[in-house]
Amino acid sequence: MSRVFNFSAGPAALPLEVLETIRNDIPDWQGTGMSVMEVSHRGKNFVELAARAEANVRELLEIPDNYSVLFVQGGATLQMAMAPLNLAGPDDTVDYVVTGSWGKKAAGEATKFCKVNVAADASDKKFTYVPDESSWGRSDNAAYLHYTPNETIAGVEFHFVPGGDVPLVADMSSTILSRPIDVSRFGVIYAGAQKNIGPAGLTLVIVRNDLLEKARPNNAHLMTWKSYAESDSMTNTPPTFAWYVADLVFQYLKDRGGLSAVAEINRRKASKLYAAIDSSSFYSNPVSKDCRSWMNVPFTLADASLDAKFLEESHAAGLTNLKGHRSVGGMRASIYNAVSEEAVDTLIDFIAEFEKAIG
Ligand SMILES: *Cc1c(COP(=O)(O)O)cnc(C)c1O
Repeated sequence: MSRVFNFSAGPAALPLEVLETIRNDIPDWQGTGMSVMEVSHRGKNFVELAARAEANVRELLEIPDNYSVLFVQGGATLQMAMAPLNLAGPDDTVDYVVTGSWGKKAAGEATKFCKVNVAADASDKKFTYVPDESSWGRSDNAAYLHYTPNETIAGVEFHFVPGGDVPLVADMSSTILSRPIDVSRFGVIYAGAQKNIGPAGLTLVIVRNDLLEKARPNNAHLMTWKSYAESDSMTNTPPTFAWYVADLVFQYLKDRGGLSAVAEINRRKASKLYAAIDSSSFYSNPVSKDCRSWMNVPFTLADASLDAKFLEESHAAGLTNLKGHRSVGGMRASIYNAVSEEAVDTLIDFIAEFEKAIG
């Protein structure tokens, strides 16, 4: 077997220990004589799995009791529609802080369902910063404020939680579980699974219970958070395999000492990679230092004509998926929880050697 160091932005690397458990489990899961994909989601084993996954994610994130934890399909993108449909009427105003492509997409989606006020927009500097909170043009009566704590494409991360009284709705797809957070500061947190949780096909949604009452009355059943809250997320057949893997990942994170321990490693990984980029005039990262992402590290080469050579040689060295998003160019190393410190160290060695070889 040969595993590469996978820096994919998503679907992203999973811990090898989890993959090995899956491999062992597949033919005969928990003595059922079936794989987890072949059992009823209403059977005892799966219902226990679902309860354990919820209990573990509650423990990891210290989710208060007045929040529901939902396991939904449709990815983070569906939540960009579900947020307005569950929190605002057609005439209500909602505030969006746009610090990257995902926040822009979320605001665009909400425009179909209610009145969107873009309170701040960092596109003037190609999404390389977070506009100072005091400059945001928030409305007086917003039903909520939506933002993207980590913008996956440009690698811009909020290192603070916005203030104010309105519920905060946060797309945490690419930062959830990377460190402890104070859930009580948020109204709604949503995250597609395929970065830091598990396989694509599952979306984690954490909703403060009073907000479940705000859904539009004519909402489709599967577009209504309350339907999931009332059915333990089994309002219809859930994505059982993805949920099973998420359960394994939550257990794996607990075994590693929980999110404080994970955060320490993530902080170290990110800071040494940025240090390597900053210490060279051959590589650069355009993001303001106060809002650089711990999870997604874009960098460019001084000579873009060497990009193809860099990608080819890094791939040959076992470092894969380093190509930057087409909207940004250059490279991007996504260093989620499952990307080991060894992977980051190997990348740092590679970029130094590549620069040296170019001369
Ligand atoms: C990946 C990503 C998305 C898109 O997620 P889907 O599950 O494909 O809908 C949305 N927001 C952020 C911040 C992301 O990183």
